[in-house]
Amino acid sequence: MDTTTTTLDPVISLEDVRRIYGSGEAEVRALDGVSLKVYPGEFIAIVGQSGSGKSTLMNILGCLDRPTSGSYEVNGRDVADLDNDELATLRRESFGFIFQRYNLLTNISASENVEIPAIYAGLSLDERRDRAEELLETLGLGGRGGHKPGQLSGGQQQRVAVARALINDAEIILADEPTGALDSGSSAELLNLLVEMHLKGRTIILITHDPKVAERAERVIEISDGKIIHDDGANPLAGEKVTYKRSGKSPSVFVQIAESVKMAFRSLQANLFRTALTLLGVVIGVSAVVAMLAIGEGSQREVMARFESMGSNLLFVNPGAPGTRMRGDAIATLTIEDAEALAELDNIVASVPSRSGNQTLRVGSNDYRTSIQGVNEDWPLAQTRGLQSGAFFTEQDVTNRVGVVVLGTTTAGNLFDQPNDAVGEYVFIGGAPFEVAGILEEKGANSFGRDEDDIALIPITTGMMRIFGQEYLSNITMAVEDTDRVDQTEEEARQLLLARHGTEDFQLRNTASLLESVESSQESFSILLGSVAAISLLVGGIGVMNIMLVSVSERTREIGVRMATGARRSDIMIQFVVEALVVGGLGGLVGVSFGLGACFIMEQLGMTVYVTSMPATLAFSSALATGLIFGYLPARKAARLDPVAALSSE
Ligand code: ADP
Ligand code: MG
Repeated sequence: MDTTTTTLDPVISLEDVRRIYGSGEAEVRALDGVSLKVYPGEFIAIVGQSGSGKSTLMNILGCLDRPTSGSYEVNGRDVADLDNDELATLRRESFGFIFQRYNLLTNISASENVEIPAIYAGLSLDERRDRAEELLETLGLGGRGGHKPGQLSGGQQQRVAVARALINDAEIILADEPTGALDSGSSAELLNLLVEMHLKGRTIILITHDPKVAERAERVIEISDGKIIHDDGANPLAGEKVTYKRSGKSPSVFVQIAESVKMAFRSLQANLFRTALTLLGVVIGVSAVVAMLAIGEGSQREVMARFESMGSNLLFVNPGAPGTRMRGDAIATLTIEDAEALAELDNIVASVPSRSGNQTLRVGSNDYRTSIQGVNEDWPLAQTRGLQSGAFFTEQDVTNRVGVVVLGTTTAGNLFDQPNDAVGEYVFIGGAPFEVAGILEEKGANSFGRDEDDIALIPITTGMMRIFGQEYLSNITMAVEDTDRVDQTEEEARQLLLARHGTEDFQLRNTASLLESVESSQESFSILLGSVAAISLLVGGIGVMNIMLVSVSERTREIGVRMATGARRSDIMIQFVVEALVVGGLGGLVGVSFGLGACFIMEQLGMTVYVTSMPATLAFSSALATGLIFGYLPARKAARLDPVAALSSE
């Protein structure tokens, strides 16, 4: 959009403007009925004592503040009709601010400071950079663009601020005591710059204390107690015909987000230690989620695998009414005859009565205490376990209560120096000799970590007579032939035992239902681990919020500068939300890698972990969400700051 401004219409027109702070007793009339017309190309100096209302007038002229009453028009448009975003656009396009204290952002370079208003005007990176370099060059700062403000002198910093005011080709330059903090040399240089800009056709309004500065202006306005007490008079013919080129673009969301991400990294970099601590919270949370869920998943899979390896063809009977919590050994309801009756049922291929107890076994001078199980000849079939040497005891051995024993490899290894030659040797159990009939194949630990090879099996009948001193069973294990009919067979077994006992003093289960209960207990284990991890993520999130809130208060002035140079509230909001997202995302990435690293180490240490993509994805998204949720409040706080108050903050 090319605008051609002729000399006849004022660019600025104030009509009886009042700005009143506070109310009642504390009421301050900072501006009390100011009427003023400014024509294009004028060079105006505003003078007056401290507290007379100069800055208040400047803030209203620059659309950083609104009048309490009266009308204010810029290029014929009533500012009262504009919403906050339109005001931001007007500031960006029409005004360039120069402040007494430069108000440069300290953690970015001079050139990047100059670019800020152009970001909000939607210029591309290349365009911005070129213009900034060009401006700095003409202001005598060629080659200094890469310096941080702290590396420049006061005069140089103020020239950077001038470049920033000029980058969007502002029509009106507003300067609030721009030479106030400069030595006389730099002050004179800056004044020359302003005069030069004026000669090129720009409208300049500056506040000054310095009579020498005021002398250079074409028109001096003096303010006292919020009123104009002297005005040299407007000059409608001040400027020749002046043409301004405007970008007219609105800021692109992508350019803006890219800038916000860059700024986020800059400000995180500027506070490395603080950033590290903030990230730590999120990192611990995320890595905890990843590692804990991998442990949970690992143990669940391990247990399930063990149970599945048991086969789905088993039925178990335990003594005691359903829901009984007592140990099965102590309840006297199941007998060998029950097991024999169950064996007669259709579809049952093996029915193994069992009673167990811990006993010391002895061979020569070797003592070894293990779990003795009294079972019948069907045990290998039900447990699908073979023998590595010798043979299992027979039905006759059970019927005749013979003293034979089948050993697990652990037991055999502890009793015999040559376990491979143990078959045919004698083992003393409870003082009675048992001949070793066979050695079981090795199996390893079961799902509960118990060594399945640390056992000794004897005929149940022999055990009841000589070892256990009890006629009752610990349990009965049955194997079914057709697993599709396992439910039906279970029901038949229930009916049979009910008929024999007259009451339900037993509990029937199958592998599937056991699997289910294990699964659900494993799930609650995972949920427990997950919640612990989630809590640490929450703590991390609160850390993010805390730091963001600190960051907003620390950077209030930066926010003010951005608003003065044309940032809308949404721009500020986006910047802080993006910053929180960067913290969350960075913490998430580092956390996921730490979590995976922890899983790897645990695996090396022999723990069962199972890494799935779900927890990592979940944890990373939670970290991002944490950033978003906990960053929102601080971002909103930043966006709602009043530009004038933000600029004057320390
Ligand atoms: P100047 O720039 O001429 O020194 P200001 O415009 O800053 O004066 O202030 C004019 C008057 O308004 C002063 O009396 C000042 O105390 C008062 N004032 C300025 N800002 C505020 C504010 N935010 N709240 C209350 N009073 C204010
Ligand atoms: Mg002031």
